[in-house]
Amino acid sequence: MQCVRTTPENFWPRFKPAPAPEKYKHLGDCWLWTGNLKDNGYGVMYGRTSVNFKRWYTHRLAYFWTYGEIPKELEVGHICHVSICGRPEHLHLVTSEQNIHESIADGRNSKGAKHSAAQAGKMLKGEECSWARLTEQSVREIRRFHDVLGMTPTQIAARLGERRQTIARIIRREQWKHVI
Ligand SMILES: [Zn+2]
Repeated sequence: MQCVRTTPENFWPRFKPAPAPEKYKHLGDCWLWTGNLKDNGYGVMYGRTSVNFKRWYTHRLAYFWTYGEIPKELEVGHICHVSICGRPEHLHLVTSEQNIHESIADGRNSKGAKHSAAQAGKMLKGEECSWARLTEQSVREIRRFHDVLGMTPTQIAARLGERRQTIARIIRREQWKHVI
């Protein structure tokens, strides 16, 4: 799959429709990317592909091929807050401040979540424990890969560089139970 040349013709079929998260149901189905993924370094996963040797996050490419140029100072944000969604109707241009702000409001930004939980003086359940690389957002995505895309724990583990056991426990809701 790595060497497939990405064109609009083979790009769009690599998304699979799936229900949007409960609070964004009114937006209609999300289109989940079924190809390669890349962690952005903060535990949030995005679809990744290349066009003419240039690497793209798939949501940015979806935006670009639908609406055109993305102004340099702006980012492509997800209205549905599903980072691997590439449905053009779920994407909009935002400033990076707005993007961070919206992520925190949605509770998917681990830094923001930690910060507000610390402020509230609450115990953190998942994000504070030893395997800090995973965030609530990645846990949700792992479950989506399994429940919606039908991937096995082995496939997900290989894709994310995680232990199979860890993935299996997340899928069985034995770990990160508080994340729905
Ligand atoms: Zn979406």
